[in-house]
Amino acid sequence: VADHVTKFEAVSGKRVAVIGAGVSGLAAAYKLKSRGLNVIVFEADGRAGGKLTSVMHNDLIWDEGANTMTEAEPEVGSLLDDLGIRDKQQFPISQKKRYIVRNGVPVMLPTNPIELVTSSVLSTQAKIHILLEPFLWKKNDSSSKVSDASAEESVSGFFQRHFGQEVVDYLIDPFVGGTSAADPDSLSMKHSFPDLWNVEKSFGSIIVGAIRTKLAAKGGKSGETKSSPGTKRGSRGSFSFKGGMQILPDMLCKSLSHDEINLDSKVLSLSYNSGSREENWSLSCVSHNETRRQNLHYDAVVMTAPLCNVKEMKVMKGGQPFLLNFLPEINYMPLSVLITTFTKEKVKRPLEGFGVLIPSKEQKHGFKTLGTLFSSMMFPDRCPNDLHLYTTFIGGSRNQELAKASTDELKQVVTSDLQRLLGVEGEPVSVNHYYWRRAFPLYDSSYGSVMEAIDKMEKDLPGFFYAGNHRGGLSVGKSIASGCKAADLVISYLESYSNDKKPDE
Ligand code: FAD
Repeated sequence: VADHVTKFEAVSGKRVAVIGAGVSGLAAAYKLKSRGLNVIVFEADGRAGGKLTSVMHNDLIWDEGANTMTEAEPEVGSLLDDLGIRDKQQFPISQKKRYIVRNGVPVMLPTNPIELVTSSVLSTQAKIHILLEPFLWKKNDSSSKVSDASAEESVSGFFQRHFGQEVVDYLIDPFVGGTSAADPDSLSMKHSFPDLWNVEKSFGSIIVGAIRTKLAAKGGKSGETKSSPGTKRGSRGSFSFKGGMQILPDMLCKSLSHDEINLDSKVLSLSYNSGSREENWSLSCVSHNETRRQNLHYDAVVMTAPLCNVKEMKVMKGGQPFLLNFLPEINYMPLSVLITTFTKEKVKRPLEGFGVLIPSKEQKHGFKTLGTLFSSMMFPDRCPNDLHLYTTFIGGSRNQELAKASTDELKQVVTSDLQRLLGVEGEPVSVNHYYWRRAFPLYDSSYGSVMEAIDKMEKDLPGFFYAGNHRGGLSVGKSIASGCKAADLVISYLESYSNDKKPDE
């Protein structure tokens, strides 16, 4: 306890600048503040939340960014508990009912091996391939890599080796399209699915690895007196909040005082003065079109702005420019989100459940969208009783040009797809459209060089830490975990330099 108190005192009162008020920056700020540090958050936008943004309008509630999240990362559970917002969590009705389009019609995804046997989502041959994966999987060879020697194996190459092409086409392609707007040929397996990548390293077969990991977890649990609440809650799957995902950043902002969060404050430059050991960071930002150099100095910086924005910043180190030209260009996936409502009587074949994803192969049946969430089926309070509310995603790597189309054009595209999928008739009652020019960074085959550049920034700039969805995963949960990890690193860094200082005192 005494050691903990001394460590707490060592960092308490230190000042940290957090750049970006998306969920990763806010989670970092929350953790730092709860450890007694002074935080100041800078956000370019006029609102906090970044890719979490909910709208309430005309008796409708919808999300323009992330719609749900999970609690797979322990940091998420701790954050929800600490914030005291468990009572605001909202779990979708029938969330296990998820659909993939096959031969032009939505087919429910199997949720266990027995359902897989009877499901029509895959052919008998593909099902046998899955069951025989422990014997049929092939080792990685250069043919599944992209030509560049430094590039890593693609997601399609990896799953093809283990489960065959049909699984890639009808499970992996729609999944990555729906979760990252990407395509399995471009994505790097190592960076997109690091856990599975490591399962192969340890066990070879994915099926064997999954079974052995499950058995090991069960064996571990049998020794416990009761299962941990985190595990139980994590297994409840995806969730949102009453009022939409924005509730999470709103609650995180509430934990900060007015002075601790600066909205409409775009950071333009950062300066590290290597002469002093304390408060050696300063920054300037633009607010209401007026550039301001901050008078405050900081002991550390947590950067959570997307790397394309970091690249635009001017960084100085010891009075000299620190050029960020080693940061590679990142490919971003553009995406349009269309929120439509239809009167219930105009939806002839409504589906209960989470939503439907459309494999690229199904474009031959005329589909143009990536998929649709059945938002009001999941959360009936999101619209009046006589309506269905749908959230449809268009664009991504599959159709980058269409992502930029006008609301009118996209309304036609979405109505046509929903007509095929759910039998909607006529025009939607309402249409809302949000266009994300850079919805997701693409973890492509050269993403290793992005990771190296982030490591270089952190190594060459003492007290600078990078977090967010450009590192370690795209999901809300992974972004929160990334922010929390950066906060821990800041604390260790500040502890270590206060320890270094002691002999001179
Ligand atoms: P961001 O939310 O991008 O926050 C970064 C912040 O930095 C922004 O607010 C930005 O304005 C600010 N900033 C940039 N430059 C500066 C500057 N110079 N100075 C100050 N501030 C700056 N994930 C899920 O888990 N489930 C989903 O259902 C899901 N759906 C999604 C749907 C869409 C359409 C999108 C776009 C994403 C979705 N995601 C989903 C992904 C997830 O929402 C994001 O990866 C995550 O929210 C990213 O959080 P972040 O804090 O890392 O980044």
